Amino acid sequence: MDSENRPLRAYFIPYLTTSHLMPQVDMAMIFAAHGVDVTIVTTYFNSLLFQKSIDKAITRGHCINVHKLKFPFREVGLPEGLENFSDATSDEHRQKIGKGVSMLQKPIEQFIRDNRPDFIVADMFLYWASDLASDIGIPRLTSHGMGHLALCAADCLLRYGPHKTVQSDKEPFLLPGLPGKIQMTRSEIAEWIKVPNAYTSLMQMINESIRKSYGVLVNSFYELEKDYADHYRNVLGIKSWSIGSVRLFNARNDSGNDDKHDCLTWLDSRNPNSVVYVSFGSLCSFSSAQISEIAKALDSMNHPFIWVVRNEDKENDDGEWLPRELEEKITKSKKGLIIKGWAPQMSILQHPAVGGFLTHCGWNSVLEAIEAGVPMATWPLGADQFYNEKLTQVLGVGVKVGSEAWTQLLEESRSYVEKEKIEKAVNELMGGGEEAKMRMKKVKELSVIAKAAVKEGGSSYSNVTALLDELRQRR
Ligand code: UDP
Repeated sequence: MDSENRPLRAYFIPYLTTSHLMPQVDMAMIFAAHGVDVTIVTTYFNSLLFQKSIDKAITRGHCINVHKLKFPFREVGLPEGLENFSDATSDEHRQKIGKGVSMLQKPIEQFIRDNRPDFIVADMFLYWASDLASDIGIPRLTSHGMGHLALCAADCLLRYGPHKTVQSDKEPFLLPGLPGKIQMTRSEIAEWIKVPNAYTSLMQMINESIRKSYGVLVNSFYELEKDYADHYRNVLGIKSWSIGSVRLFNARNDSGNDDKHDCLTWLDSRNPNSVVYVSFGSLCSFSSAQISEIAKALDSMNHPFIWVVRNEDKENDDGEWLPRELEEKITKSKKGLIIKGWAPQMSILQHPAVGGFLTHCGWNSVLEAIEAGVPMATWPLGADQFYNEKLTQVLGVGVKVGSEAWTQLLEESRSYVEKEKIEKAVNELMGGGEEAKMRMKKVKELSVIAKAAVKEGGSSYSNVTALLDELRQRR
């Protein structure tokens, strides 16, 4: 095969946290399905999270493989296998994983230099990847864990500092220049935007590296955030391609696991749209007082629920992370199911019995709810989640619970939301009033559009083919 016609060769380098890793693996699988010769560069234990999906893609004839690196667990003082931020249970773990990630930079760079693919797709946090790519004369695409509204809002805050003009943390202000008259308060803004620190410097390096990169791959679909996708490209001048939802593109199920989880059998016996699914993502941290408050709210309402509790490391004074009496009462009544640890979220959201999602507004969770056509009660905690809550408001698919204080990722949430507020939001979400019906109608419409976007001729599908044509031409 002459060099003009051989398949494009691409290396994908994800970050070692599940909510960045899995979407990037999905992106890699999409490219492989479009004839690209793909290599995913990651560590051995992280590769186990998606190996089954890769094996399936290979049986379909796609050219995709995994280059497995050894995580330097001994050198950084971690037990073998602890090499993903989502598995860390302490700050010490997180710092050590971060150190290990830095130590992997050299071997990854060497691997890319030795093999010189046609382009690389590197996670936003791998800020060194743009310089490396330009050094060896290939394009670097940045894969981003955020949607377009969030990207535009963060840029606006850093560029214009509108939060500096208000007198108090609760006084609302407009995000200047952004479509849709978006309001925020100072308490909803990340600490590193308000007071520069080491993370601010890291974000500056990341933003510079994005500007130097060939463009940004966004896990979103154009119709969902049209105004903000246009603003990002045309006003901020950064090339981006909405190619999501990347999971829907691959029709990937939960972690490639074919066994039916007990909670799905439990859902089978529930009425359509009756169950509220409660989950706060893979990284959140609540005080035991807040966990009790959530338990009391769920117990006092009439809606059946599935609640994922992940604070294994948090214990109250009795050495428990959930009041035992309440847990027993809930379990006995069979009204609710408590899942400790990991839940098959996508399968739960897609179950017809689920009629609402109490969510922390992680970008993947918001997208998954929209794909599944499930309206949300929104309880943002930190990261980009307050921006994502704004999007649910713009789209008319969410009820705000009323959390107000941005919290550093992995730190204990600073917002305390009382039982009454939780009940009010969930009752509005599940209650069947006019507004609830409207939210349901809107989210169902978006779900249809989300599914069409990844089909041949759809917006995300066309963006992938247009990008690959462009990359082939510039080879
Ligand atoms: N997730 C899951 N089961 C859980 C918790 C999370 O499958 O018990 C998945 C969820 O479906 C989503 C991802 O983990 O794809 C969480 O990503 P998100 O961006 O929503 O939140 P983060 O974990 O980054 O805060």
